[in-house]
Formats: sequence, structure tokens, C-alpha cells
Amino acid sequence: MDLRNFTIDIDADGLALVTWDMPDRSMNVFTEEVLGEIERFVDAFASDEAVKGVVITSGKAGSFTGGADLKMLSAMFEAFQARKATDREGAVAELFARCGEMGRIWRKLETSGKPYVAAINGTCMGGGFELALACHGRIAAQSAKMGLPEVKVGIFPGAGGTQRVPRLADTQSALQMLLKGETLSAAKAKGMKLIDEVVPDEELVARAKDMLRAGLKPVKAWDEKGFKLPSGPVYSPAGAQVWPAVASLYRKETADNYPGARAIVKCVYEGLLLPIDAALRVEQRYFTEVLQTTEAAMMIRSLFVSMQALNKGARRPAGVPETRIAKIGVVGAGFMGAGIAFVAARAGISVALVDRDQAAADKGKAHSAGLLEALVKKGRAKADEGEATLALIHATPDYAALADADLVIEAVFEDREVKAEVTRRVAEVLKPEAIYASNTSTLPITGLAEAFPDPARFIGIHFFSPVDRMMLTEVILGQRTGDRALAVALDFVRAIKKTPIVVNDTRGFFANRCVLRYMTEAYDMLVEGVPPVMIENAAKFAGMPVGPLALNDETAVDLSQRIMRATIRDVGEGAIDPRHLALVNDMVDGEGRLGRKAGKGFYDYPAKPAKKHLWPGLKERFPQQKAEDVDFTELKQRFLVTMALEAARTVEEGVVTDPREADVGSILGFGYAPYTGGTISYIDGMGVKAFVALCERLAEKHGERFAPTPLLREMAERGESFYGRFAPAAAA
Ligand code: NAD
Repeated sequence: MDLRNFTIDIDADGLALVTWDMPDRSMNVFTEEVLGEIERFVDAFASDEAVKGVVITSGKAGSFTGGADLKMLSAMFEAFQARKATDREGAVAELFARCGEMGRIWRKLETSGKPYVAAINGTCMGGGFELALACHGRIAAQSAKMGLPEVKVGIFPGAGGTQRVPRLADTQSALQMLLKGETLSAAKAKGMKLIDEVVPDEELVARAKDMLRAGLKPVKAWDEKGFKLPSGPVYSPAGAQVWPAVASLYRKETADNYPGARAIVKCVYEGLLLPIDAALRVEQRYFTEVLQTTEAAMMIRSLFVSMQALNKGARRPAGVPETRIAKIGVVGAGFMGAGIAFVAARAGISVALVDRDQAAADKGKAHSAGLLEALVKKGRAKADEGEATLALIHATPDYAALADADLVIEAVFEDREVKAEVTRRVAEVLKPEAIYASNTSTLPITGLAEAFPDPARFIGIHFFSPVDRMMLTEVILGQRTGDRALAVALDFVRAIKKTPIVVNDTRGFFANRCVLRYMTEAYDMLVEGVPPVMIENAAKFAGMPVGPLALNDETAVDLSQRIMRATIRDVGEGAIDPRHLALVNDMVDGEGRLGRKAGKGFYDYPAKPAKKHLWPGLKERFPQQKAEDVDFTELKQRFLVTMALEAARTVEEGVVTDPREADVGSILGFGYAPYTGGTISYIDGMGVKAFVALCERLAEKHGERFAPTPLLREMAERGESFYGRFAPAAAA
């Protein structure tokens, strides 16, 4: 057989070893060519007497497959859109057929009469795991990870995943895994019965062949008479235990915002009532439907296409050679600096971690020691690996340690004077080509750069807390920041595997401006007498991961107070609503409720295991509206609209220049309702015209802060979208 992406090696026992190893890629992915080749070998083996069984594995170390190739999905979308305009029925029929291709081939393999074993040597996601599930045996290396993450980009596993998983695992764990898009370790997958055996990495192929030699049946249990579902039939006493709880699990995970998740529940429920072939058709039908939803289109664009583009350096200036960053300096080993040192060392970069004295620097390094210890305990890092990482961090009060750094990141107190003094001291020792970055969260970069001799080498790299978990960094260009500084900053962000957005200098940059709107909208609701619990729930039902009051407690209420005071000082009294300031002053100065760090803020934080709960005193401050008088849908809209509107302002002001960055930045930076595709896709998704109408309605009721901006009005009039007007390339 002449295959480009697979090698086939048939041994003396007639056992075929198929190794997937795409010649031109670092990772195996599904393309039309790959699918075609799989079908060819399945057909060939089916009619070849000499072949007794087949092992499928991958030739890429540590990775079986990353899943579907983006281009395949995009091509499918494009074909659908192009045909839909003139021939809707035909377009849907074609989409249906194309959606079913992968599932059809997996089913063919499953019923081909030859036994197949998937030997999973590493990460095996999406369609690849569905291929494995179609095989008759599944064996995984100890280090392998697997899962069906499709729900996270707005779709769901549509090549048999929703049918084979709940025919192997019990219904509840199956649904849990599918709805969360959870990545499973080999051991956990075995616990769920999705994997038959877990073996040491080096024995994988030999043990897979042993499985075949032991007489693995080429027929699936569900293709035999008398097959019993792991949790029993849907309509049975056992089913009656499971299914009522599913509705609440589904609501809890999704707030009913995700068509992909809704389809998972329907597929599993309806599918388990049917024999496998009919069930697979049900799945295919829902998959075709979900692919046509706005949510799927927006999520695939932001969380898949745009995120990959940004990670690959979409905003990196062309023509600046890539820097391999060997060493960085971090000045200020506090909360943020310690986190930055950790993520850099994890990426194998040496770090000079500088603070005012040895003890403060050591404390910063101890943060990494703690995180590494936890990773080792969880089995996510080996002990010697942890030690090696820690050894990369050199904690010292001596600025001379920064002399050979390629990049220095300043994370000292948020104070112009302190920062200027540190900047001057670093500049004295820095090598001439090194780049200087500030992690400031509020101070304009252009002003900070004045303390540095060469502002072209000065840039902002704004991390989010906690640094080890938040995937976004905001890279901020000062007025005189040069291309090389940007390139080096982006090379660094890439090295530590975070996603960058690049924004222009302004008060609050991008993310904090939007987040501030989220919190102040909650202040407004409090003042109006909306019951606090409704405020928090409305935000969560709108798709936010954390309610605005809980978030405010995390970031600290006294920080809000400081930001308000600074804003009044810099911009004037009118910039802050006096009722908001009064509320915050009361919380901080009157009640000492500074937030989570103080054990009390908008919430009370009793000792564990008790859970936090909203502070009862909050209700006494403002006359409360009756719950039935509150328009809950409108509360949800207010949150999403106020943040989207702020994002639109940043685009209008030229702070954000590419809508992809506002979208990806809003989801990764503050968890903006992912099903919308992000702040700008929320607007484009409903259409600028509809958004403007919504803003006008809210403005009339709640005030000028909701008034649509001139740009929005103009775009509504002309029928434009943000992706159409600001990033024609990104929209494609
Ligand atoms: P922090 O108070 O925890 O840490 C500041 C550290 O800087 C302290 O360890 C202090 O000893 C050290 N320091 C002060 N003056 C110094 C000097 N002259 N030389 C060397 N070290 C000095 O503060 P943080 O929360 O880590 O914030 C640091 C910076 O990061 C601030 O600019 C802040 O705005 C920004 N930031 C904070 C967050 C956050 O969530 N906390 C998020 C993004 C950005």
C-alpha cells in the first residue's frame, strides 16, 4: 500500500502494526488525506486473509494525535456558507454528509471483521480518541492522556464519541467527562473502562500484540445480542436514578448557554434508547445542527483559530529574528514577581529574582518551591525535574545579577517613584540590547519609559494573577516602544506558553477596563437594591465564571478604592459615581471588609470546610427590591453589554487594533462568557444593529453609560461588523 502518513509493518504472525507519522508535521492531525488512507488500509486488511489483527499507534513521541485539522473544519464551514445562500437544503445535506465522514470510517473499522487495538502512546484528543473507541481493544502508555475536548470550542464529539463512551462507562461519568471536555490520565480512563490496559511506555506495542494473540474478538459488545448498557436501560429503575440528576449537572456546568453541551445530553439520552447504527445517525444529525449555531462559529473562531494565530505570533513584527531567551531578570519578588519567576523557570529560562533584601528575594523563590512541590505530589512533575527548575532561580538583592539578562521584568510596588528608581538602577547594569518590561496594571507605559535611557527598548508585559494559572498576557506598547522590544516580549510569552494580546497604551489597558465595568455594574445593582444573590447568579447564568462581588473580593476591595481615588486625582471628580465611592469607602474604612485576604468583603469567609457566603449586612445597606420585581434577563444583559461596550470603546480608541485580541483577551483574561466567542463576537454575533438597539434600551432605563458610541452607530447604519471592518483577514 502506498500511504503518505502511515507505515505498515506485518509480522510473521500476521499482525499488522500501523504507525501514524505525518511527514510534514510535528503532530498528527486528521486531514481528508489521512481519513482517506485510513479507509484504504481498513478495506485492504478486511479482505486480506493473511492479516490476523491490527495495532494502530503513532510515530510521534508522546503524542498520538491532537485531533481534527482546523483547515478541514474551516473548509466544511466555507462550503456550507457558500452553498447556503442559494440552496439551503442542499447545503445542509452536504454538511450532514461531510460531518458523518469520520464516523462512517470508524464504524467501518469497527465492523470490518478484523480485530483492532489502539496503542495510545501519548496525548490522544478528539477524533483520535474516537478512533481508539472504535477499536476493539485500547491499551495506553502510563504517560498517555486522552479526552474529547470538543465542547470547549462550542461543538461536541460527533464521530461516535457520545455513543461509545456511555456504552463503555457508566452514564454519569460518561456525561461528566463529555460535558466538561475533561482530559483523562490513562489510569482514570481505565477506571472509567474506556481503556482496557495501562502499561509501561516501552512495552506498549508488544502488549498490544499480546492482546491480539490472546484472541481479541473483532466484534463489539454492542454489536452482539444481549448487550447491556453499563448503567442499565434509560427507562429502568437504574435509569430513573441517573437521568433526573443529569438535568441539574447539565445546568450547573453550562447554565444552558452551550448548544454543544445541550446536544451531548440529547445524543446520550436518545442514543442509548437505540441500537448503535441508529444512535450514530442521531449523533450526526445533532452535530450538523450544532455546527450551524452562532455559538459554535464564534467559539471555533476565537478559541481555536484566533488563539492559535495569536500563539503563533500573529502580531509579531516580521523581519525581527527570533530571540531565544536564556535568562530574564525579575525585579520585585512579591505576589506577581514570584509567579513570573516560576513560569519562566518552568520553561527552562534562568531567572535572577531581585528584591530589596535577601529575605524578600528568598520569599519569592519559596513560592516556586511550594508550587513545584505540589506538582510533584500530584504526579505532574518528577522530583528531579522540580529541583532542576528551582535551581534556575537565583534569588538576590544584587542588581548586578541582571547584567546578562535578555529581558528584565519589573514587578515592584505600583508607585511611579518606586518604579522610576528601580528602572534607573536596572538601566545602569543592563546589557545594551536587553529589553525592559513593566508589569504595571494601571500606570501608562509611555510615562514609565521616561526613566529609561532608551524608550524603544521599554514595553509593558501585564500578567494576570495567579500567574501560573492565567493563560493571558497583555503586551503594552508605549508611544516609543520599538519593534524589537515587541518581538522579544512576544518570544518570551511564547516560550512560557501563554497567549499574548498586543494593546496600545491607555489607563487600564484592555482587560482591566472591561473588568472594572463588570464590578461597577454590580455596584449599581447593589445601590438599586437588587438582592446580592441575584447579582451573583445573574452573572453566572450569563456565563461568567465568577460573580462580580466574589471577583471584587479576590482582587481586594481596597484596591478598588485606591483605583477610584487615583482616577479622581488624574481625571476629575466626574469620573467616578459618588455612590460607588461611598459604598467602597464604607466597606473598607467603615467595616474593614477588604476582601478575601481579610476574611471578609462582600462575602464572609468562615474557616474551612464551611463555604463562603454573601455578607448579610449588604442587604441592610440598601432597601431591597422583591425578587419577582427584578428582570433577571436584563441583569444578565447588563453585565455582558457593559463589558462588550467597553471593549468596543477600546477598539474605537485604537487601544485594541484587532478584534481577535479583544475576543481572546476577554475570554482568557476575565472569563467573558466563552459561548459568545468574546466581547466583540458577542456584538457581531447578534449584529451591531441589534446591539445598538439593546444599548439604547438599557441607556434609557439605566443611564448614559450604556449609550452606544459614535462608531457603533455608524457601523449599525452601514450594516458593518467588527470583523468585517477591522480585520478582514481574521474574519476569513
Ligand atoms: P507586591 O507588593 O506583592 O510585591 C512587590 C514587591 O516589590 C515586594 O516584594 C517588594 O519588596 C518589592 N520591591 C519594592 N520596592 C523595591 C525595590 N526598590 N527594589 C526591589 N524590590 C522592590 O505587589 P504585586 O501584587 O506583586 O504587584 C507588583 C506589580 O504588579 C504592581 O505594579 C502591580 O500593579 C502589578 N500587577 C499586580 C497584579 C495583582 O493581581 N496583584 C496583577 C497584574 C499586575
